[in-house]
Amino acid sequence: MSIIEKDKKYIAGTYNRFPVEIVSGKGSVVLDASGKEYIDMGSGIGVTSFGIGDDTWKQAVIAQLDKVQHMSNLYYTEPCARLAELLCEKTGMKKVFFSNSGAEANECAIKAARKYAAEKKGPEYSTIITLKNSFHGRTLTTLAATGQDHYHELFTPLTPGFVHVESGNIDELKSTIATEKAAALMIECIQGEGGVIPIDPAYAKAAYEICKENDILLIVDEVQTGNGRTGRLYAYMNYDITPDIVSTAKGLGGGLPIGATLLGEKVEHVFGFGDHGSTFGGNPIACAAACSIIERIDEHLLNEVKQKAEYIKDTLSGKPGIEGVTGLGLMIGIKTAKPAAEVAKACMEKGVLVLTAKDKVRLLPALNISQDVLERAVAVILSCCAE
Ligand SMILES: *Cc1c(COP(=O)(O)O)cnc(C)c1O
Repeated sequence: MSIIEKDKKYIAGTYNRFPVEIVSGKGSVVLDASGKEYIDMGSGIGVTSFGIGDDTWKQAVIAQLDKVQHMSNLYYTEPCARLAELLCEKTGMKKVFFSNSGAEANECAIKAARKYAAEKKGPEYSTIITLKNSFHGRTLTTLAATGQDHYHELFTPLTPGFVHVESGNIDELKSTIATEKAAALMIECIQGEGGVIPIDPAYAKAAYEICKENDILLIVDEVQTGNGRTGRLYAYMNYDITPDIVSTAKGLGGGLPIGATLLGEKVEHVFGFGDHGSTFGGNPIACAAACSIIERIDEHLLNEVKQKAEYIKDTLSGKPGIEGVTGLGLMIGIKTAKPAAEVAKACMEKGVLVLTAKDKVRLLPALNISQDVLERAVAVILSCCAE
C-alpha cells in the first residue's frame, strides 16, 4: 500500500489533502517523496515560524531533549518559567497559562473571563460575544465561539453562552452589551480562516473602549496573527488597544505543539489551585522551542517581515487575475479571479505550496523566508493567477 492509500484507509476522513507526501525540507523549501522541490508559502498554517529544520530552533530542542522531555506540572521546570517571563516582559501581560493548541488557549481564555465575571458581577454574566465570520477552534466550546454556522451543523448542542455580532458594527455591539450579560468580547485582529480580513482599526478601538467602560474583558485570539506574523510581536500591537487576555499558539513553538493564554492585570489572579490544568501544557521541549522563537522576534526581524509583506502586496496588486490583496505582514489573502482552490492546485504543480481561506489564496510563509525564494514563489503565484 502506498502512503497515500494507507492514509486514506486508516486516517479519519477530516482532511482533503493535496496528493503530495512531504518527506523533508530546509527553511522554506520542502521535498516530496519523488524528490520534487516546493517553496512552502504556508509554513504548516503559520506554524514553522523559521521554516523547516531551522538550526537555532533545532539546537534549542535538542539541548532540552538531552535534559528532560517531560515533567508533570507538580514540579518546576526552567523552560516554561523562562518562556512565561519572556512573553510577559515583551507584552506587559502579567501571567501565562500553557496548553497545547489554539483551541485550548481559547478555552482557557473563556474560562478566565467567565470566572472573572462570575466573581465580579455574578455567574449570570457568562456570555462571550464574538464576531461573525470568526474562527476560534474545533472543540465544542470554541466551535460555539466560532461565528460561522457551517462549522456548527450536526455538532449541536454546542456550549451555550455565545453570541456573534457583525465586525465593524458598533451599534450592534452596544445593543448586545445592553441586552446580554456579557463576560467578554473575543476578536481576531485579522480573521484568518474567515478569509484574511483585518478588523477596522476604528472599530477595534471603539470596541476596546466600550469593553473597558462596561468591565467586559477583551480577549484577542492571536493564534494565527501572533508571534511576529503581522510585523509586530502580536497583532493587537498594530491597533491602539490593550487586551485583557491574549491567546496564541500556531507559530509560537515553531513546529511543536504549544498554546499560551496571556492574562492581563484584571485577570492576573483569577485562577487558583485546581481551576485549570493540562498534562502536557508547559512541556519543556515545546517551551524551549518557543523560547528560541520569541527571543528571535526582534525589531530587525519584524522590519524584514514588513518589507517582505510590502514586496508581496506591491508585486501582486492590480495584476491579471488578481482582484485584491488583503492582510497585514506575512499574513496575506489574495482575491483571485479564478477559484482559489484552482490557483492553489496550479501553484502546487509548479512547485509552490499555498493555502486558501474562503475565496482567497492565503500566504503564511516563514518569517525568515529569503527574498530570493520569496521572489520565485511570487512569480509562480502571479503566473497561476493570470493563466
Ligand atoms: C488555527 C486557529 C485556532 C485553532 O487552533 P488549533 O491549534 O487548531 O486548535 C483558533 N483560532 C484561530 C484564530 C486560528 O487561526
